[in-house]
Amino acid sequence: MALKHSPVKLAIVGGGAAGMFAAAIAAERKVPAVLIERKARLGSKVLMTANGRCNFTKDISADQFLSDLVSARDTKARDFVAQAIRECSPRKIIQGFKSLNVPLRRMADARMFPADGKATTIVHAFGDLLRDSETPVLTNCAVTGIQPQKNGFIVATKNFTLWAENVLLATGGVSYPKLGSVGDGQNFARELGHELVPYRPGLIGMETSDPRITRLAGRRFEEGRAKVISADGATLFDYRGEVDCESFGLSGAAVYNCQRFIEHYIRTSGIRGQEDRLRASLTLEVWFEHERLQFKGLPPRPVKEAIVTIGGVSLDDVDPRTMESRKVPHLYFAGEVLDIDGPTGGYNLTLAFATARKAVTSIAAAL
Ligand SMILES: Cc1cc2nc3c(=O)[nH]c(=O)nc-3n(C[C@H](O)[C@H](O)[C@H](O)COP(=O)(O)OP(=O)(O)OC[C@H]3O[C@@H](n4cnc5c(N)ncnc54)[C@H](O)[C@@H]3O)c2cc1C
Repeated sequence: MALKHSPVKLAIVGGGAAGMFAAAIAAERKVPAVLIERKARLGSKVLMTANGRCNFTKDISADQFLSDLVSARDTKARDFVAQAIRECSPRKIIQGFKSLNVPLRRMADARMFPADGKATTIVHAFGDLLRDSETPVLTNCAVTGIQPQKNGFIVATKNFTLWAENVLLATGGVSYPKLGSVGDGQNFARELGHELVPYRPGLIGMETSDPRITRLAGRRFEEGRAKVISADGATLFDYRGEVDCESFGLSGAAVYNCQRFIEHYIRTSGIRGQEDRLRASLTLEVWFEHERLQFKGLPPRPVKEAIVTIGGVSLDDVDPRTMESRKVPHLYFAGEVLDIDGPTGGYNLTLAFATARKAVTSIAAAL
């Protein structure tokens, strides 16, 4: 029998939230695909989400989801993902997991979890689907380069190359690099002519050595509240939720969402070179138990500890109708590799799922 070379229709680089979802949609749409993951198993970061419980989405409408994404008048990401989210809304994601027979639990605030409170249940659901659909999965295999050809791409790994007609970069952000997301996709994109928006930490604690906080290190206050207040005393952002005291300073959902607000506020301020002054002028006000404390200009913890990366592949270089690169045809992006991020509450996994689905359905339509 004469054998000849043939390309795979789709190489999905990165087996995290976006990559696993993309492979699942590829199987559903009968797009022959291979999923390539650097770590020894799929979904390392997904397993860490919500302290291993995986808050995978929120039971809200697509419109509500999109309006919640906007932070400090930064509407770019909302506009970019609007179509993807309408087609793969939080409620469709919930239905999708139900149809995979994953029992779910809805919290009073509409956050959704697997009923057993185990992120492994979500990752196993993808694993089972990929096994049943006979989707090839390469783990322990880092992609080291992507080179466009006349008829597709050479996808290089340490030991061999693959020929793919389409490539989807789903390599994640740059936080928690031990979980595999180290910025490879952004580097490949930059080498291929895409603009990168500088990284910032998103949803991370803020540092203070104030003893009123550090003496309470380890205490969690679920009924907390945090505000961002401008130099002239205006409340810019107000969030009710958990405030935690740590040895380094403050964390918890209310603080995380304020920190995310501050990063978007600074980057959309248009005041170049004055970032530090702007940051120093902002006050974080935290409320817990009977305390109401104000701190000026707190620095965030580093991006490598953040829940999400703000920044990444510029949305100007990607077509939101398809997730295809505007620079390199047949190259697609999904998830945190892009300059998109959301608040706490299941928004970031939802963004990864919805952009992955958008990319794969576009590829399927073009085949
Ligand atoms: C501690 C923590 C808790 C979180 N909790 C929540 C939560 O409860 N709800 C929520 O919505 N979001 C949460 N997030 C955010 C969410 O996990 C991410 O936004 C989401 O996983 C992003 O999906 P992704 O597929 O883009 O990236 P990832 O899930 O990071 O996946 C990227 C994958 O690509 C692989 N990869 C990278 N480079 C290469 C390469 N060169 N070759 C092959 N593979 C490669 C990586 O190993 C990784 O597996 C949390 C994040 C953290 C860190």
